[in-house]
Amino acid sequence: MTHPESWLRVLPQGLFCEPGDFFIDPLGGVDRAIVTHAHADHARPGHKAVLASPATLAVMTARLGEGRAGESQQALRASEVLTLGEVRVWMEPAGHVLGSMQVAMEYRGSRAVVSGDYKRRADPTCDPFVPIPCDVFVTEATFALPVFRHPPDDLEIGKLLASVALFPERTHVVGCYALGKCQRLIALLRLAGWDGPIWLHGALAALCEVYERLGVQLGDLRPATVAAKEALKGAIVLAPPSAVADRWARRLADPVVCAASGWMRVRQRAKTGGVELPLVISDHADWDELNATVDEVGAPEIWVTHGREEALIHAVGLRGVRGRPLRLLGYGEEDDAAA
Ligand SMILES: [Zn+2]
Ligand SMILES: [Zn+2]
Repeated sequence: MTHPESWLRVLPQGLFCEPGDFFIDPLGGVDRAIVTHAHADHARPGHKAVLASPATLAVMTARLGEGRAGESQQALRASEVLTLGEVRVWMEPAGHVLGSMQVAMEYRGSRAVVSGDYKRRADPTCDPFVPIPCDVFVTEATFALPVFRHPPDDLEIGKLLASVALFPERTHVVGCYALGKCQRLIALLRLAGWDGPIWLHGALAALCEVYERLGVQLGDLRPATVAAKEALKGAIVLAPPSAVADRWARRLADPVVCAASGWMRVRQRAKTGGVELPLVISDHADWDELNATVDEVGAPEIWVTHGREEALIHAVGLRGVRGRPLRLLGYGEEDDAAA
């Protein structure tokens, strides 16, 4: 067996699979990129050839513009196997956002899996994470501290709906990231029985349309920007986190400022962001889920791309798993908002 250390390298542009001649989620423009998902820190413009899931390609193109999401695009569906150079490559869902995939690679008897960003909770807007047994598991560590334990989603959605019932004259404005979090919140609200209109800041509308086009039903969505203040009393409005904090939100009827993010576990973050109602809803695995996932894939070794790697590497070390920090540049920039 050829250890992945000898064929999967960290170059300045990112993680490079030498015998397959491709990068995974690289910075800048490379000849061939495999992209795990369409968040901006993973899906960058300017590559020649881009390989990704059909949904990731669609979202990437919507965000970056026609022609900027790879000069040529190749779609790979889950479990479909491809041979690149001498490497067998396939993808399985990562459960993070619509289209998000893990990349599995096999070369000369060893298997590495790059999970991108992932979560383990059920998400009505994307396929669930599939554990792939491997020799090296490349993982994120956004919430890799024991303090991060995400509560059940329905509990958090329940808090929002209880507040809406309690303050029927006020507008609840929820800060949420445009790709993934926004659509998941809408879907969770629908599951909880909220079938009235959900009002959107203009910056969130385009990606909701892409989700609907790809088959994720979101129900009655309306533009908040043109709505009268009176119409938004008792309403739920979703907006990018930046808009919630500025003048845009002040024109709403006595707004209750909410935010949906794994970071809302940290009370100080909510406070400094002016968030009255923090909702701990994350698209990343929490501490328990990161550890459980490492155990589940059974890899004797993990490589940590970004986040709080020390705690995770220490914890898995106690269970005999070797940990290596990759300290990849450029990841996590978007995660603050997207987390
Ligand atoms: Zn992401
Ligand atoms: Zn990320």
